[in-house]
Amino acid sequence: MNTGFFGYTDIVKASEALYISEEQTANHFKFSIEQWKRHRYDVKTRSSLVRKEKVFDAFALLNKCSRTGCSIVPGSREEDFYFICLQDDQILQALIRDENLLLLPLLIYVFTHELVHIVRFCNFLQRFEVCSQEREEEERVVHETTYNILKRLTLPRMNYVLESYQNHRICDLIVS
Ligand SMILES: [Zn+2]
Repeated sequence: MNTGFFGYTDIVKASEALYISEEQTANHFKFSIEQWKRHRYDVKTRSSLVRKEKVFDAFALLNKCSRTGCSIVPGSREEDFYFICLQDDQILQALIRDENLLLLPLLIYVFTHELVHIVRFCNFLQRFEVCSQEREEEERVVHETTYNILKRLTLPRMNYVLESYQNHRICDLIVS
């Protein structure tokens, strides 16, 4: 039944997908565990999203919190914190629309895409606040990097996701 929210098994798949995506992304950028820990982010699913974190035309939204606007990391150094906000309903609808699509590879694709953005923003390869033209270019670069990270991952239907969703709108970006 599609309630528009992830159920328990979907959440378990999401943690598995996040683990795989973190590993693949860290390998690609040749980060040590210590270096990887400097990237500060967490994942939310739809039941925890506030209104401005909900979108209707993407699988995820990346919310950059400044220290002042984000109380989840009290006492932290002045660093940005990112929330990957999964849009459960959009993801579940895509699975219904396309029977060749599986949740695990789709989530790996979405997470890896968001992690690449985070790496680029955290390492000043890209500014978060950019004009629409720069944002398009950022999406293109992130899509390409995501493809390169995941193309050798042997997982059922991973290639299908890489080939079928390369032009799909994966994410939106906001600042809190
Ligand atoms: Zn993106």
